[in-house]
Amino acid sequence: MSSIKIPIETSARHVHMSREDFEQLFGKGAELTFVKELSQPAQFLAKERVTVRGPRGEFENVAILGPFRSRTQVELSLTDTRRLGVPGVIRQSGDIEGTPGCTLFAASEGTSVDIPNGVIVAKRHIHMTPLDAYQMHVNDNDEVFVITESFERALIYANVVVRVHKNFRLAMHVDTDEANAFAGDAQPYGVILNLFHGSSYDLHQWAEELLEGIQR
Ligand SMILES: [Zn+2]
Repeated sequence: MSSIKIPIETSARHVHMSREDFEQLFGKGAELTFVKELSQPAQFLAKERVTVRGPRGEFENVAILGPFRSRTQVELSLTDTRRLGVPGVIRQSGDIEGTPGCTLFAASEGTSVDIPNGVIVAKRHIHMTPLDAYQMHVNDNDEVFVITESFERALIYANVVVRVHKNFRLAMHVDTDEANAFAGDAQPYGVILNLFHGSSYDLHQWAEELLEGIQR
């Protein structure tokens, strides 16, 4: 059984916005201004930018990605959350219950909106089509290991969530901390590693077993 090269793409800090929150910043009836397409179909970079402000610091000029979502979500790296002064909570996109909030500020308008939650560190994941999933013997929401190609410090990522949808394009998404951790070249890729005769295994449990002398 051979595997497939998965392109690894780095997500810099960004914001997805609800129409309601966006209108509060940019005015009633305001629309996202298309700048360019992103790798996943229908996703795009917008011209509008916001400042993300927390109790300890802020980031200016943060990109907004369209289209609108039902709820506003701010995606940061763990390093970013420390600079902002909010807890770093690792979540899948859309799962924002109980996550920290922040203030979004539109410097161009002098307006701001407080979001009660929605600041997440996105859980690393792979977008793929049902055909990709079939070929790699994985299912939606599986957690897999991915071995990365890299200069000098390759690593194996655990807890990589598989997201399957017919409109997805094959790509693994990591944040800037994760990308810097393996120092990939201009077009890095990863390969799913089938350990334990299955697609997922709890690394903490694995470590405990090794400490007890259990070899798998
Ligand atoms: Zn993604």
